[in-house]
Amino acid sequence: MNKTLQALVKLQDVDTSIQEIQRKIYVFPETMKQLDKLLAENEQKVEALKTSIEEQEKLRRVKEREVEMQNEHIRRYQGQLLQVKTNKEYSALLLEIKTLKSKNSLIEDDILELMESIERAKHSLGISQKDLERNRVRIQQEKEIQEKSLTEIQNTLEKEQQRRKILAEDVDAGALREYTKLLNLRNGVAISAVEEDGVCTGCHVALTPQMFAEIKTGNYLHRCPICFRFLYWANSENQQEDM
Ligand SMILES: [Zn+2]
Repeated sequence: MNKTLQALVKLQDVDTSIQEIQRKIYVFPETMKQLDKLLAENEQKVEALKTSIEEQEKLRRVKEREVEMQNEHIRRYQGQLLQVKTNKEYSALLLEIKTLKSKNSLIEDDILELMESIERAKHSLGISQKDLERNRVRIQQEKEIQEKSLTEIQNTLEKEQQRRKILAEDVDAGALREYTKLLNLRNGVAISAVEEDGVCTGCHVALTPQMFAEIKTGNYLHRCPICFRFLYWANSENQQEDM
């Protein structure tokens, strides 16, 4: 294979690897942020349940005091029943007692509903707290794994960049300039393989039979007429080893 073409194929290989590593490094902060967010959501859920339970218990106490107060009134009225002189007064007191009792009955229904709701919330809280503890451990482990892998990735990046530097030194200066330009313009891919169908894999344009035949020989430094990427015969990678 043409020496420059061969060097460009190798360069693209290392550049693709560098791009992949850089992508991983780029998403790292977002990955960590997502993990923190997941934990924060869990904590918020637990806090919300705790607050809801507290509020409902407060309301329950208020309603219980209300019932107690009305019971006190009822007892007082019942005491007065023994002292009234007229039937009219007697009936009025009875009505008062009856009204208070039915009010209490409604409040007691509310209290029962509140107690059931508190029980349900406590049950959910128990589940959420277990989830939180489990997730806290899991997320911590996941963050440690991510941090360790970032260190490894950064080490690999340094090695790959070193490898690229050495490879680039071997490439003809003009071709390297063109290659670098294309790398920036064409989404990080400056050289396209041509497969059996005679199509540029970069932009899928069909090449002329003449061009295809020449590319197959590996002796030409052809560029795609549409995307301008350098072109090489996909199956020549095996031949590369022999050269
Ligand atoms: Zn193309």
